[in-house]
Amino acid sequence: MKRLVVLGAGESGVGTAILGKKEGFDVFVSDKGIITDQYKEVLRSFEIKWEEQQHTETKILSADIVMKSPGIPDKVALIKKLLEKEIPVVSEIEFAAKYTAAQVVGITGSNGKTTTTMLTHYVLKQGGLNVNMAGNIGDSFAKQVAENDAPFYVLELSSFQLDGIKDFAPHIAVLTNITPDHLDRYDNKFENYIASKFRIAMNQKEEDYFIYDADDEVISEYLKKHPVRSRLLPFSITKKVENGAYLEKENITITIDNNKIIMPTTNLKLKGNHNVKNAMAAATVSQLLKIRKATIRECLENFHGVEHRLESVLKINNVQYINDSKATNVNATFYALDAMKSATVWIVGGVDKGNDYSELYSLVNEKVKAIICLGVDNSRIVNAFGNCVDNIIETQSMKDAVNIAYKIAERNENVLLSPACASFDLFKNYEERGRQFKEAVREL
Ligand code: ADP
Repeated sequence: MKRLVVLGAGESGVGTAILGKKEGFDVFVSDKGIITDQYKEVLRSFEIKWEEQQHTETKILSADIVMKSPGIPDKVALIKKLLEKEIPVVSEIEFAAKYTAAQVVGITGSNGKTTTTMLTHYVLKQGGLNVNMAGNIGDSFAKQVAENDAPFYVLELSSFQLDGIKDFAPHIAVLTNITPDHLDRYDNKFENYIASKFRIAMNQKEEDYFIYDADDEVISEYLKKHPVRSRLLPFSITKKVENGAYLEKENITITIDNNKIIMPTTNLKLKGNHNVKNAMAAATVSQLLKIRKATIRECLENFHGVEHRLESVLKINNVQYINDSKATNVNATFYALDAMKSATVWIVGGVDKGNDYSELYSLVNEKVKAIICLGVDNSRIVNAFGNCVDNIIETQSMKDAVNIAYKIAERNENVLLSPACASFDLFKNYEERGRQFKEAVREL
């Protein structure tokens, strides 16, 4: 019996353990932290052995294969020891893909993964495919492969999941964009992070597809030097492409092998140029998988978007309140400000991971009438924008931030929470930050 050791007992770890058990492995789960009661219950019910608050080396170094959860860096001593012993260390995606014959759509990028994944899944499902969705959303891929496999999957893939692949190849890969993020895990080298994202195409073959943002220079430059084997289907909002998707006036045109679909963007519920790109990516996938054109059009028009991503909350006194709490980096905030059609009171701040705010300056000059800083340490925001905006106010609670925004914003303007920073100085996570914003708005 082969021994599978699972490091980390979160959603992907427990899912892998379930699948490993089903496939006849001797499974052992080890977590350095405390395992939640809910997952302990699952492990017990499958009679899977586990430990918590420790990694017992003798039980781990005896593995034939190890699944490492995405949160564990490669640098830790235990992983180094496993690699020295030449024990394969893989991610959940790599492990689980071996046990399904499904066609996989893999979606990665610095921003837009969740939105594009959910939109793609929605269109494919409405189009009649039996399709599952996994990745950072809902039940793990491994668990679904074990318990309710389907012929199609749409997977949201982080760079950490991709770092742990060896043979995994999605039939259709989507790369939404690449901007600096998580560099602490990549020796602070942007090129390492770029290479990690491109692993999504590394095992693709000629009959596979690679859909990507052709306006993203980081992607285009990398592709020139490191061509992929699969067929390229670029999307662009600035130039025409022969095969792939582009924007002309207010219409999206998608062409694949002379098969064309044209869709107006004016009817899209999702706002902003970034969402036009996400819609292009999702529609290209759907067209490749032969979903009817009318269905694709209807679905794109009906899709409301995902909570905490440019989410319209309420209009009060004709001021629109928008929750973009998921914007934890500068690029996401760039597109949020870009999507604002009138003067905006901007709530920004939190844990700054070394942001370069300069790419926001022209949008801020053009659209932002006041900045409300929301963080324990607001000095970086004040320093960055002191010269472009006269009205900068520092706050340390969501309630204060929203109440002050209410006083400043006038008819037909916006109040936008788009922090460009992580949330954990004042909040548990970005979801809590977004919920507190919505609550404070509703109490106005
Ligand atoms: P991810 O799963 O990659 O974090 P999300 O769909 O959750 O992506 O969106 C994260 C943030 O990025 C949100 O603030 C959202 O408005 C913004 N965003 C969504 N799509 C894009 C895109 N294509 N380019 C830039 N920013 C985007």
